[in-house]
Amino acid sequence: MASITIRNLSKTYGGVADAPAVRDVNIAVPDGTFLTLLGPSGCGKTTTLRLIAGYITPDSGEIRVGERQVSSPAAVVPPEQRGMGMVFQNYAIWPHKTVFENVAFGLKLRRDANVQKKVAQSLEQVGLSGYENRFPNELSGGQQQRVALARSLVVEPEILLLDEPLSNLDAKLREHMRSELKDLQRRTGITFVYVTHDQAEALALSDQIVVMHRGEVQQVGTPFEVYERPANRLVADFMGLMNSFQGQIEPEGNGLARLQLPDGTRFDVVAPPGLTAPQGAELVVRPENITLSAQAVDALGLKGVVTAQTFLGNLMELTVKLSFGPEVRVQSHPLTKFNVGDAVGLQLNLASASVFLKA
Ligand code: ATP
Repeated sequence: MASITIRNLSKTYGGVADAPAVRDVNIAVPDGTFLTLLGPSGCGKTTTLRLIAGYITPDSGEIRVGERQVSSPAAVVPPEQRGMGMVFQNYAIWPHKTVFENVAFGLKLRRDANVQKKVAQSLEQVGLSGYENRFPNELSGGQQQRVALARSLVVEPEILLLDEPLSNLDAKLREHMRSELKDLQRRTGITFVYVTHDQAEALALSDQIVVMHRGEVQQVGTPFEVYERPANRLVADFMGLMNSFQGQIEPEGNGLARLQLPDGTRFDVVAPPGLTAPQGAELVVRPENITLSAQAVDALGLKGVVTAQTFLGNLMELTVKLSFGPEVRVQSHPLTKFNVGDAVGLQLNLASASVFLKA
């Protein structure tokens, strides 16, 4: 079984005065899953991946692969004995070796009897059959990254760890390689643990996303869950553009609550956990979940004026200044009928909104 279980994992580089790079991390990676560690630079993604690979020793906690403990403060199974492959951002392929030699290297180290057949198979898996005799400088960036993938796959790992493997590729190639990676993971059934700071990449690729911030796990969920049901404001903010409305909330019973904005507009919302008495709250709505109309929905509906318009090809982004001051971003079809200066009503899709209590 190539499931991974991470329990209470912590790691601090340097002295006790330093903030932990990873703090009390708990993650379960089921066998055959594509799991992504996502978060801003410095949040501890690479440290977590290195701990899984066995390059560093945790200060506390443990990592298991199946039932087997592979890391604890007392003992770390070396990387080469973990049945894991690793793919790095900078490919790390040898410039003076051919594609064949690069891919065959790990097998030769093991004195494998089927080098020719296995190299041919893994080159086919990544779509590089026929490139055996080329040198890396005769390949595109995407092809070089595929050589790195083939080299990891050829030793038949149960788990593949990938650290920002697409970030050196141009936008179009990155998107193409995304779908190839996803397809490869499905075909092989290998457990993938993937590190990226790119939320669109994480949404497109993953079965499960772990959102990290300052060394701590903020949320673990499917792409839909972390985007549509963010556990807190940090996750909401990191997963995409958002508009924030400050207001007052009070419980109404039956799991519902009433939220009031400064202009008197009121909304019935699902009560956020922990709401017991009236208090300050924040309503978070993504730009694609606001619809504009020529008039407010009713006398108390949100109203504003369009102050800017940006054509983004597949959509139009409008800035609307609300009657009580704040500006919001709204995304609509590029052929929207609204122009700068127009008075508009705003309808929020509350089913896709989130409410967070103020601290
Ligand atoms: P990035 O996306 O920039 O690679 P990351 O999320 O992968 O960031 P880590 O590389 O895990 O983050 O770093 C987490 C924290 O640990 C950061 O504050 C970083 O400065 C620190 N750190 C990482 N490696 C070391 C090291 N070898 N020695 C000391 N501190 C380190």
